[in-house]
Amino acid sequence: MLGRGDVRDAHMDTKAVWAGEDRYLVDRATQVPVVHSVAFGYEDVDEWYEVALGKRQGHIYGRNTNPTVAVLEEKMRLMEGAEAATSFATGMAAISGTLLALLAPGDRVVSIKDTYGGTSKLFLEFLPKFKVEVALCDTGDHAAIEAEINRGCKLLYLETPTNPTLKVLDIARLSAAAHRQGAIVVVDNTFATPVNQHPLALGADLAVHSATKFLGGHADALGGILCGRADLVREVYHFREINGATLHPEAAYLILRGLKTLGLRVRQQNRSALEIARYLQAQDQVEAVFYPGLESHPHHEVAARQMEGFGGVLSFALKGGFGAVRRFLPQLTYAHLAANLGAVETVAGPPRTTSHVELSEAERAALGIPEGLIRYSVGIEETADLIADLSAALKGL
Ligand SMILES: *Cc1c(COP(=O)(O)O)cnc(C)c1O
Repeated sequence: MLGRGDVRDAHMDTKAVWAGEDRYLVDRATQVPVVHSVAFGYEDVDEWYEVALGKRQGHIYGRNTNPTVAVLEEKMRLMEGAEAATSFATGMAAISGTLLALLAPGDRVVSIKDTYGGTSKLFLEFLPKFKVEVALCDTGDHAAIEAEINRGCKLLYLETPTNPTLKVLDIARLSAAAHRQGAIVVVDNTFATPVNQHPLALGADLAVHSATKFLGGHADALGGILCGRADLVREVYHFREINGATLHPEAAYLILRGLKTLGLRVRQQNRSALEIARYLQAQDQVEAVFYPGLESHPHHEVAARQMEGFGGVLSFALKGGFGAVRRFLPQLTYAHLAANLGAVETVAGPPRTTSHVELSEAERAALGIPEGLIRYSVGIEETADLIADLSAALKGL
């Protein structure tokens, strides 16, 4: 670790800046280099062999490991308080790699209906091809999820808060039920980030992230991260080194740079999102607001117990359905209308073109996603400017 001390007990923001940084600094550089080299050369064949066997630290080939990527993995390992961490080309590579590496034909997975659209496709389309049975439960119904777990379960897959209606699951309660069945618990922590929620401390075995969102924070790099139990991370890493969904060192560097301001960004986004949610709730043109920080949110109590902040994403339904959405969105000055979230800029869009683009209209309706819904990912702009922007667009309806 750092020559001058140990970051393990430091605050999250301190870890975000310093953790994992020291190992590859060259020629007194203060910043981690982007190592583009695909291969790493050895003059001593015995040393080369020992590195290849994993008996000695070092790198062999860029599909497996890379110095820049290793710094990001070490930083995230410490930020999530995990035994181990590995990385992927995208969040979906992390999620699919985790599921494909840990499951086998005949296994049973329990999850929820509200997972990210791509994850949902894995459950509905791809895992059944490998003879993995998937039980998808109503997201808010903890008793139903526990009942499915008790019917036998190899892996419990949770995502909280969910996309796009911000439902919240009790990670500690459901992890305990899964562990009684000997199941592995995986939590998608993308919406919360390690600033707001610690799935591993709440009992999960693995926390998975789309680093593309808040971790990178600048909408300029794709990536995925998996943190958790060393034996499980090793298995998933082994699949990834063979399947080849490796994070690019350039992307790793951009995510590393983004991570340094994660705490500052996410706390600002938490504050702004709560203020904006309260503002929207009071507007006549708005039918409903979904944000776990609102006392009116059905899962507010669980969220308040397990989260340090409620996150930067909220959604709201306009009266007037999709016609109102079509008129409203182009009126916004401070929002990219795009399929992304967690960036420094505010990003807005309807679920049919963002989180749930992979689903059919019938599938979205079955999930209870109103046609007038807008997902609004709050950036780091001044809150008053965002509220003025929303207000002007609402007046234009
Ligand atoms: C975006 C997202 C993913 C997928 O990540 P990619 O980096 O786009 O592959 C998974 N889960 C959640 C919650 C997401 O928002």
